[in-house]
Amino acid sequence: MLNQLPKAELHIHLEGCISPKTVLRLIQRNKIETEIQTLKQVRNLFHYNDFTDFLKAFVFVSNCIQSESDFEIITQEALANLISQNITYVEFIFSPPIFIFYKNLNYFKILENIWKAYGTFANKIKMNLQIDLVRNCGEEMGFKTLELAKKSKEFNVVGINLGGDELQFPAKMFERHFLIAKDFGFKTSCHAGEWGNSQSIKDAVNLLKADRIGHGIRSIEDESLIELLVRNEIPLEVCPTSNLETKIVNSYQQHPIRELYDKGVKITLNSDDPSFFKTNLQNEIDVLFENEIFSEKELIEILQNGFKYSFEK
Ligand SMILES: [Zn+2]
Repeated sequence: MLNQLPKAELHIHLEGCISPKTVLRLIQRNKIETEIQTLKQVRNLFHYNDFTDFLKAFVFVSNCIQSESDFEIITQEALANLISQNITYVEFIFSPPIFIFYKNLNYFKILENIWKAYGTFANKIKMNLQIDLVRNCGEEMGFKTLELAKKSKEFNVVGINLGGDELQFPAKMFERHFLIAKDFGFKTSCHAGEWGNSQSIKDAVNLLKADRIGHGIRSIEDESLIELLVRNEIPLEVCPTSNLETKIVNSYQQHPIRELYDKGVKITLNSDDPSFFKTNLQNEIDVLFENEIFSEKELIEILQNGFKYSFEK
């Protein structure tokens, strides 16, 4: 029954949807100089001992993207995969700073290519975009990215996100950005409490006034923060397999998702970077059900939250 239900993905990185096969295709198409030349080698890249390994893989894959039209290929593949799981609504997180400031790709041309791919599938899925300011790129690039986002609303850009290194680049650096984002009419989400502690989540709530929190699982360490999330109905975008793969959590049983749910925190279920973590939303549902963490009824409620807390107007 859960397979057939319409579903929504709120926390899924577009660049994290590139399959090993497509990575290889991009290596060949863009003549990338690398020792990685086979599918097996690409797959090996997607095994991590820690978060640094994951980051290395992410940077490598991002480097395989060399032109705006690569985004058409990536989006086509990502949307086809989502539709095969009966996902009818997606809010892709896209991180332009890396491509527009470091590689000099054109932001609007990238969006045109994403939309070209969307055109083929628009009768089956609604696609909105969240623009990630990327903490590591700093304040100035953040402001520039925000201005571009404002000019691209016709491409269904509905939200501003903040990903990247939450330890080195704390939320307070982006307080003004989030204030402006709200002024521009954007909804906001902030990755917090994945690598950082509960303070990082508190800052995302109190300083950035984020509408949703990406991950946020370390809120489990702070009762007062849990109360704050419950009181203000701030949902978490939980991505269990992602947390296991990057070794933040040791097992599904030890994942705080159930405890947070029991304490009344609103939970949405997501895949984060499906290709990198060898998962998808359907798999997330299956593992939580098979490990008896949630009943079918509870999972239906969690899946409905995906629509309820979306940034779709
Ligand atoms: Zn993420």
